[in-house]
Amino acid sequence: MSPDLEDGLQQRFGKYFSDSMTFSFSHGDGWYRIIESFLQSLVNPVMSAKANLDRVERRFTDKGTDRDFYSPVTVADVDAAKLRLANAMENLPSSFYAKEQFGELSITYNSQINPTVDALIDFAEQMSAVTCEICGNFGKHRNGSWDRTLCNHHAEKLGYMDDMQ
Ligand SMILES: [Zn+2]
Repeated sequence: MSPDLEDGLQQRFGKYFSDSMTFSFSHGDGWYRIIESFLQSLVNPVMSAKANLDRVERRFTDKGTDRDFYSPVTVADVDAAKLRLANAMENLPSSFYAKEQFGELSITYNSQINPTVDALIDFAEQMSAVTCEICGNFGKHRNGSWDRTLCNHHAEKLGYMDDMQ
């Protein structure tokens, strides 16, 4: 993946992983959108829990009382919002590692088994199997000395046409 794209992902999402976020791709940027969407989906619960806590705290701390007479914010609401954020953060893996394996995206993470993360990974990996790793267009798995997922154009360009029939 291009260094500038990788830097962008590190800047946006790196802070959500207490340990590390690692990418290891030798070819192209075709899977960039898949990885970006995967990371966004992964951190969305944390971002929305953080926004919720900000909103609750803003209402609670405003002059010590809540302005909304009809639905006052209580200490319990603030605690609940903090708990929601803590839970969302706890569900994030501490590290994230993406590489290419047998022509497809392979994502691993370091944390306890997490069904939600596993489902997102499965989806991202499935998407990579139908997405050209160079340009991001529709692609197919191509067998060769090095298995790859390529669109017709890039398969032809790189001499992977034999298994197209
Ligand atoms: Zn392509």
